[in-house]
Amino acid sequence: MVCPRCKELGQKSTIYNSSTYSSTVMHCPSYYDEDGKLHNHDSNTSSTSMSCSNGHRLNITFSKKCSNCDWGNNGKIIAEEYCGPTGETFSSTVSFNGYRPQDWKQVGQYDLEEGAL
Ligand SMILES: [Zn+2]
Ligand SMILES: [Zn+2]
Repeated sequence: MVCPRCKELGQKSTIYNSSTYSSTVMHCPSYYDEDGKLHNHDSNTSSTSMSCSNGHRLNITFSKKCSNCDWGNNGKIIAEEYCGPTGETFSSTVSFNGYRPQDWKQVGQYDLEEGAL
């Protein structure tokens, strides 16, 4: 996948997977409707965060989409940029060590395309 924020800005970047996944565990039985079509409305999601070489943080939520109705979606990507006290954003030349989470600002939300990863 590409960083959607970089794509929007016309930049190229490398994405690093933080490899910390978390997921929810809920029991969501699938069912067949009156027409015999299978509906798999699994509302469990998993999420991870990645960072790109231009300094964007991508919080990615994976979810499920039903193939027989409009239920669900493939997931969302929320892109964040680190902002300093006066609102300036930082690029990849800045070390991210020591940055406080509250200094991250959401800069975009994108739909995760099917099979993006
Ligand atoms: Zn980026
Ligand atoms: Zn369905």
